[in-house]
Amino acid sequence: MIPPKKPDNEIARLAALHSYDILDTLPEQSYDDLLRIAAGICRTPMGAVTLVDDSRQWFKARLGVAVEETPRDVAFCGHAILVPDEVMVVPDARSDARFHDNPLVSGDPRIRFYAGAPVIAGGEAVGTMCVFDDVPHELSQAEREALQSLARQVSVLLDARRHARILGHHLRERDWYEQQLLQYQAQLEAHNADLAELSRTDALTGLPNRRAFDAALQAATGRTGDAGGLAVALIDIDHFKTINDLHGHPVGDQVLAAVAQVLRASAGSAATVARYGGEEFALLLHVTDAGAAELQAQYVREAVQNLPIGFPVTVSIGLALRRGDATPAALLDRADRALYAAKRGGRNRVELAGE
Ligand code: GH3
Ligand code: MG
Ligand code: MG
Repeated sequence: MIPPKKPDNEIARLAALHSYDILDTLPEQSYDDLLRIAAGICRTPMGAVTLVDDSRQWFKARLGVAVEETPRDVAFCGHAILVPDEVMVVPDARSDARFHDNPLVSGDPRIRFYAGAPVIAGGEAVGTMCVFDDVPHELSQAEREALQSLARQVSVLLDARRHARILGHHLRERDWYEQQLLQYQAQLEAHNADLAELSRTDALTGLPNRRAFDAALQAATGRTGDAGGLAVALIDIDHFKTINDLHGHPVGDQVLAAVAQVLRASAGSAATVARYGGEEFALLLHVTDAGAAELQAQYVREAVQNLPIGFPVTVSIGLALRRGDATPAALLDRADRALYAAKRGGRNRVELAGE
């Protein structure tokens, strides 16, 4: 027996074979069908679609063959792939020096006749489409060409498999990018929501800022059927500059935060409480008449006055009740003038704006 030698291009040949990732896969109908056609045409009971690996030949399809692979040393196909563009025919293995004492010849399946057409895939002879018999045979020219055609069909199947895998890879990759994109989008939306919240909130007190208050006032005055039910209170801490001067700016900040908290707690849940400027706050009250508004403002003023801070902190409040369809600017202007009057009137007091 003469074991098949390895071709000069063996490394490239194995690389081509392995690139198809087909070794040790399950049987497939398409390969089985091609093999059955080949055996039918060549009138043999046995055949195989073999792939010649480093040290074995593995059968992608087999007919009348019990094993899934054999060592490469005894493989007829190991010889067939050495001449890639020819069909190798062994009419009677017993009289062929390469095979006469081959265990596949002396033992089962007692091969006598063999014909194998190399399968060229990725430019390399990766295996064969082969048929064999336990009686000697000849192969006609037409049969030889048919075997070669079927070997080419095996190559087509291999390439189709590779393209399907590449496509699958691209699709998975695209899915992955899509997922990433959705994730980024969600993050961006959350980030935007945070930014929007930040742009409406005062950092020191956590209250809505002037922008948010103006928007709330605009929305409230814009609502139909709400006319007359609104009041704006502008609240300014008395002598705050002195508090800063006497106790330091950080304590001034703590006073602002404490006043913010007490305003929030005393204004009622329906009211909008905002930090309107440096030491100025604003309330948007939903009230039906001036008396109710004034009562609420006095309650707020007293709540600040009673803050247990350790030194006196009071506020002056300018209150304006909305009349008719007064604009937000007109309402704020009246409240501001009332606040000025409260300051002039001695501070720590509520002044209701006139007409
Ligand atoms: P009035 O009773 O007339 O309102 O006197 P006032 O001292 O409160 O008023 P003024 O407008 O003279 O001073 C306000 C001070 O508030 C000046 C400013 O330094 C201080 N201020 C504004 N924003 C902040 C802040 O965020 N933190 C601190 N600590 N001080 C602030
Ligand atoms: Mg002020
Ligand atoms: Mg002040």
